[in-house]
Amino acid sequence: MIIVTKKGVTPDQLDHIRDRIESLGLRTHMSQGEHRTIIGCVGDESLLQHIPLLSIPGVEAVHEVLKPYKLASQDFAAEPTEVALGDTCLGGRDVVVIAGPCSVEAPEMLMATAEHVRSAGARALRGGAFKPRSSPYSFQGMGEEGLKVLADVRSQSGLPVVTEVMDTRQVDLVASYADVLQIGARNMQNYSLLTEVGRLRRPVLLKRGMSATIKDLLLAAEYVMSQGNSKVILCERGIRTFTTATRNTFDLAAIPVLKRETHLPVVADPSHAGGRRHLVAPLSYAAIAAGADGLLIEVHPEPEMATSDGDQSLDFPEFEALMNGLRPFVAAAGRALASEPAVAIP
Ligand code: PEP
Ligand code: MN
Repeated sequence: MIIVTKKGVTPDQLDHIRDRIESLGLRTHMSQGEHRTIIGCVGDESLLQHIPLLSIPGVEAVHEVLKPYKLASQDFAAEPTEVALGDTCLGGRDVVVIAGPCSVEAPEMLMATAEHVRSAGARALRGGAFKPRSSPYSFQGMGEEGLKVLADVRSQSGLPVVTEVMDTRQVDLVASYADVLQIGARNMQNYSLLTEVGRLRRPVLLKRGMSATIKDLLLAAEYVMSQGNSKVILCERGIRTFTTATRNTFDLAAIPVLKRETHLPVVADPSHAGGRRHLVAPLSYAAIAAGADGLLIEVHPEPEMATSDGDQSLDFPEFEALMNGLRPFVAAAGRALASEPAVAIP
């Protein structure tokens, strides 16, 4: 931690700042300038985490040297984390595509979607049973019935299922059916929910909140990991900005930033980022080129009949075309689609 003092800080104030830091068990290193003093705090920085340093008289700014997230940080892991997903895994060399409808609507549509996306190369099925809708009057999902449909389709198709958990009261119920628990953008900072899924040992797909910084996202992952669950998959799904041409703004740079900051797998959700069908393929290709470990894509047998997110859902031929178009990007990134033999890295 580095403390920068205000211009014209008095010797008494400097003594007080130094005493305060040293009384917490850290050492200080003073660097006196003409107008300001820079105080380096040496020792266990976590001892300063809960001290309101900016309110000490004479303090102008405080800069962290160490990352506030530890378990999620690249510095704390020797290897990238790989999260198992059925017979494949996310975060290794293979690119994993997770596809399916926004909402589980009926057994037939889910089964048809699972069969199609699997044969086109997807390795996991998505589908919401509990839906976080912006309006309370919109379809809220099938609830437990939807979870049962997901479990049936998993056993018939062999695809592991990813589904959202919205509330701490539903965690055990959703975990009894799902292979991966999705925490949605609106819940990324629901710390009770993060703590609750952290108690499980089931993978968690954590979506970036629409106004969350990358640090916020990594701190949310830290909540889950601090409870002992290290199986966290991060998801860039677009953030809110001033532009209205797309549903959200796909923060492409977040992918390489995250890959540098953390050892956790990173996937991209081009469906919610773009919000329109024609944007899903180009955003998918860009995500792979930027280093994403996987994609989360909405697919529906009849998008115009979808109960949620139809405008951004691909139909079956569109999904197949996307998967075909994806292969050169995957190969150029020195990777392979999870369904295929790995490409040799020179
Ligand atoms: C979803 O995956 O359907 C969803 C609701 O996503 P998000 O939380 O990113 O809006
Ligand atoms: Mn959706």
